[in-house]
Amino acid sequence: MSRSMRESVAQAPVRSPGLRIPLIRPNPPRLSAMGDDLSEIERSGIYSNYGPVNARLEERLAASIFGNGACVTVANATLGLMLAIKQAVGWRPRGRYALMPSFTFAATAQAAMWCGLTPLLCDVDPQTWLPDAAEEAALLAQWQDEIAVIVPNATFGNCLDLERYDRLSAQWGVPVVIDAAASLGSIDAAGRAFGSRSRHPLVFSMHATKAFATAEAGLVYCTDQRLIAMLRAMGNFGFGQERAATMPGLNAKLSEVGALLALSKLREIEEIAGHRNALFDIYRALLSGFTFQRMTGQRTAHQFVSVLIPEHASGDVAGVVARLAQSGIGSGRYFVPHLAEQPYFRENAVFGALPVTAALSARVVSLPMSDFMTRRDVEEVCDGFRLACAAPVTRQARRATR
Ligand SMILES: *Cc1c(COP(=O)(O)O)cnc(C)c1O
Repeated sequence: MSRSMRESVAQAPVRSPGLRIPLIRPNPPRLSAMGDDLSEIERSGIYSNYGPVNARLEERLAASIFGNGACVTVANATLGLMLAIKQAVGWRPRGRYALMPSFTFAATAQAAMWCGLTPLLCDVDPQTWLPDAAEEAALLAQWQDEIAVIVPNATFGNCLDLERYDRLSAQWGVPVVIDAAASLGSIDAAGRAFGSRSRHPLVFSMHATKAFATAEAGLVYCTDQRLIAMLRAMGNFGFGQERAATMPGLNAKLSEVGALLALSKLREIEEIAGHRNALFDIYRALLSGFTFQRMTGQRTAHQFVSVLIPEHASGDVAGVVARLAQSGIGSGRYFVPHLAEQPYFRENAVFGALPVTAALSARVVSLPMSDFMTRRDVEEVCDGFRLACAAPVTRQARRATR
């Protein structure tokens, strides 16, 4: 850990007194230490509308993270998905479906539905937890022109095979928009930032709970400068001409203060992603015998660590979570309920059997990850987790869950 990172650890406010190790401990750059830069924004009199701080941010993101291409910032990734999906399917989509995994966050489906599309849900791969390739191919063969866009999720920052999506896109003439919300900081198998050189737009989040933590922010990246220019106009009310809408639009612009936070986080992301990846390796070593997601890249910017509880304990996930909390350890369950289990999507999406997703979501528990955690903390979490999985279901533990 570098000195600056150690200092920010030492100065970090102590939170969640009930939980010694919370699931997520947001670490956005400290506005209170940015007096000069904030004064500069005040002096400029420019607070938004793709101002100078935002321009610097976009330039540095494209150069230092992706090494090429172009990007446009958005106020959050959900708006980025709405813009990218709308642009991809055109103003009057021919098909009605957005093909996506059921094992993703609600935002993926909500964004497609705001574009007037119906989510068509597929299953995931049992090892990588990424959308299942055979299922995607089968659904494309079955629905063909009815599918307006494919929206795969790079599950928990894991890297998708983007060349496979190139081939699917060419074979079926269907656009692809990638929900890479948790992937800023992930490095693929070839050693490049996940998504770099992609001509399909990728949407990343910089929400406070992601590894690249700000407050609310997002970004859309791809190699196609014209596409990014169009998304920029769409994110500014569809103004393709001076104060005149020439296309669908909304307001998705990132404020200058938001851009300042992201510029500052950009300086730390290498170290943060490295630290998180190293903690993940410790988790895997200490919980050998447990099932983790198989990572396909060289480095993952982990937001938390999802692991499956042993089958014998799967009837008592709530008990495991409660026993962890009793020992001061926070946990969560992502993505539970998965899309097909959420009332709004159950009614409005189309899906068949999703056996892998169902099995995963019955057993998945997400364990703590943060910039502040040390090897000692991971050891404590792993000890607590082993005990929580081994413990018999007692009345007391059950009562504690309520
Ligand atoms: C976090 C997340 C989002 C939403 O990102 P926001 O910036 O909060 O809108 C969308 N999809 C996935 C998979 C996410 O993890």
